[in-house]
Amino acid sequence: MGPMITRLLFGLFLIAIQIQAGDFRVGAAQVDITPKNGTPMAGYYKFRAVGGVLDPIYAKAIVVEQDGTHAAFVVIDLSGTTRPIVAAARKAVQEQCGIEGDHVMISATHTHTGPQLARGSLMDELTKANSPPGMDYMQALPGYIAQAVKEAKARLAPARPSVAMGRAEGISFNRRVLRDGVKEAIWQPKTLNPGTDKPAGPIDPEVGVLVFESDGKPVASYLNFAMHPTSVGGGLKISADYPGVFCKLVSERHGPGMISVFANGCCGNINHGDYLTGKRRTTLELGTALADAADAAWPDLKPVTTFKPRIRSEQVTLQRRTFTEVEIAKAKDITTRMFTENLGTVPMAEAVCILETVAKQNEPLLAEVQVIALSDELAIVSLPGEIFVELGLALKKASPFKHTFIAELANGSIGYVPNREAYPQGNYEVVSARNEVGSGEKLVEVALKLLGEVKAAR
Ligand SMILES: [Zn+2]
Repeated sequence: MGPMITRLLFGLFLIAIQIQAGDFRVGAAQVDITPKNGTPMAGYYKFRAVGGVLDPIYAKAIVVEQDGTHAAFVVIDLSGTTRPIVAAARKAVQEQCGIEGDHVMISATHTHTGPQLARGSLMDELTKANSPPGMDYMQALPGYIAQAVKEAKARLAPARPSVAMGRAEGISFNRRVLRDGVKEAIWQPKTLNPGTDKPAGPIDPEVGVLVFESDGKPVASYLNFAMHPTSVGGGLKISADYPGVFCKLVSERHGPGMISVFANGCCGNINHGDYLTGKRRTTLELGTALADAADAAWPDLKPVTTFKPRIRSEQVTLQRRTFTEVEIAKAKDITTRMFTENLGTVPMAEAVCILETVAKQNEPLLAEVQVIALSDELAIVSLPGEIFVELGLALKKASPFKHTFIAELANGSIGYVPNREAYPQGNYEVVSARNEVGSGEKLVEVALKLLGEVKAAR
């Protein structure tokens, strides 16, 4: 063959590869899901009716597609997701957008100033989630989620994803503290006793930044950090909390018109209460610190070579905790008094958990683990609960992907999921956990198995 022909054939070969690989396309959209006044609010063990808006809350969607396979990443500014809402939303997405339900990952930011979804437990009576305004809101939500996905899909355009991992130090804290000589962990101390107190575990300082560029302009970002959004605190006004500020600033600074989406990582035991300095940072300070961390990571954004989204999901059956007759009797006593007396968060959480667990002891405790890989270097894992940070760190460390994002409170929620070491240390998250010791480790194991499968798939 002459050099001309060789060059021609080589050119055709390159074109063939490009056609074979197909364009990676992305579209993003958001739908306002701010509830009406009077809607029951989430976050605390009591009834609070919405009485205004600090900032709107959204259902946000990023839809990706390559070679005809779609995946949708949806994040809602809510305290959690429930299985019935996720099932209804996936069905609506499938019907209205033609995207398979199991290609949709729906997670919540865990804002404590959003509406409460009924969960089929005593919490519904406490928060009045099952009142008519609460039920109206719930019924509308799957439609809003489908609308966000539909609008995002309509905007699909060739795009290039880039990833960088930033770091935010000194704004998140492991909210469980161990004191010398005391078996039970201290929960959310305002300050530490120097010399005797130390955090019971680590934090995860990583700020995941995934940016999609279309025509050289950022059109969507998927941001990831692990910390409870409780900075607005109580009150009766709706707010997306720090994730709202974080997303708004990233869009303003890097691409006006860009849709920024925040997925909360494994923050079951992580919040912003700074017991080292005694400082309570504001919503604005927290969101700004994270936006600054994303800015610092921006020059490190590296494009990833995409493939057709590889998606796996598995329903894991976990074991429920069991309780003694004495514990059950005590829980019954607390739940009869908790509507009229202020008994404190921890005893109420424990009593509600015990009675719910006893009532459902013959129902399997199901947890969906979902994995969506977009590239050899990038996968997003979802877990259905408030996962302890130790589990998230272990999962990221053992992941076969260079970059692993984790979205918690996704595709339903089984409540708090402590790591094995935390159980004997008790207190809030442990006494309100529905699942038996070892459940979190099992979820990590399944996630790693699914990551291995999508990594090896062709
Ligand atoms: Zn929480």
